[in-house]
Amino acid sequence: MADTNDGFRNDWATKDFYQVLGIASDASAADVKKAYRKLARENHPDSNPGDAAKHEKFKAVAEAYDVVGDEAKRKKYDEFRSLQSRGGFGPGMGGGGGYAGGGGFNLDDLLRERGGGGLGDMFGDLFGGGQRTRSSQPRPRRGSDVESSATIGFTDALDGVTVSLRLTSDSACPTCQGTGGKPGTRPHVCPECEGAGFVVSGTGGAFSINETCPRCGGRQLVYDEACPTCHGSGRGTSARTIQARIPAGVKDGARIRLKGKGAPGENGGPAGDLFVTVKVSPHRVFGRTGDNLTLDVPVSFDEAALGAEVKIPTLGGAPVTLKVPPGTPNGRTFRVRGKGATKKDGSKGDLLATVQVQVPATLDQTAREALEAYRAATGGKPLREGLFA
Ligand SMILES: [Zn+2]
Ligand SMILES: [Zn+2]
Repeated sequence: MADTNDGFRNDWATKDFYQVLGIASDASAADVKKAYRKLARENHPDSNPGDAAKHEKFKAVAEAYDVVGDEAKRKKYDEFRSLQSRGGFGPGMGGGGGYAGGGGFNLDDLLRERGGGGLGDMFGDLFGGGQRTRSSQPRPRRGSDVESSATIGFTDALDGVTVSLRLTSDSACPTCQGTGGKPGTRPHVCPECEGAGFVVSGTGGAFSINETCPRCGGRQLVYDEACPTCHGSGRGTSARTIQARIPAGVKDGARIRLKGKGAPGENGGPAGDLFVTVKVSPHRVFGRTGDNLTLDVPVSFDEAALGAEVKIPTLGGAPVTLKVPPGTPNGRTFRVRGKGATKKDGSKGDLLATVQVQVPATLDQTAREALEAYRAATGGKPLREGLFA
């Protein structure tokens, strides 16, 4: 027997591609192509604007042709169907005249009659994170958005940088492809819930409650041997590393959206987006407000009072000279044009240099005498009168 896991697709159990194309399961390759072309033409969205049913049909036809129009895929699909019809899903279900093939039973319908949602639901739950659909033609579903974060350096935030992000997400177990069963073994309809996926508990009547089947966990099928990788849960995590471009000028705490870098879509749906929250490490001396850089510049009392030319650093460039005019008060900010952060348009913000007048903690003899002479020269000037007005 062929390896049942090789080529198994999670939605094949619910789909009859031959029926979709309106052909017999032994149709020739030429007939398959002919049927596909006819249906694709009839249902093409361009010729049927606004007709949702035809759009769905067009997608279903394309999907069916993707499998049965390809010799290798068709072989696997046929093997899969043949396996179902030979009783792969347990006692009492294998006697039909071919799974889902004209007049035969349809496993999905059978499960639905028993009260469950059908295999489409089961696999929808496994692979789609909970959104249920009763349609046997799964709709394209956009992948979910993914959140991530990155810490970058102060200079990288100004210039832009490409970072590697390792993303982990829940996905179907790669060994069993989400079925929870050991590869190569066959599932049975769950004997506990008879394939319903839930059991009724309570005393009956108004107080009975449907609970997820404890045996199959709502998956409707059970395997005799659990998958060795996920121990039957069907779930795994997948990790991938992507390169994300952080644009120049990004601010601390910014949330950057990278379109299409989130989780992959299903059934041809688009991928979700990746959101990266950026943390910018602080710089030793420079700060930032918007497109401007900030810098605290210590100056002495005499420099502020007498005026001075003060050499200050710029980020990634040569130092510049700041002219501190005589009588500069503590806390005054000077603007050095074009020495700030790079703006979106490529131009540069400014460097805002704020003087911080320093008071000497200790004085030597000469300095003390000079200051006392200064006090004598300026003594009596009322400085705090305004406080008592
Ligand atoms: Zn069960
Ligand atoms: Zn597994």
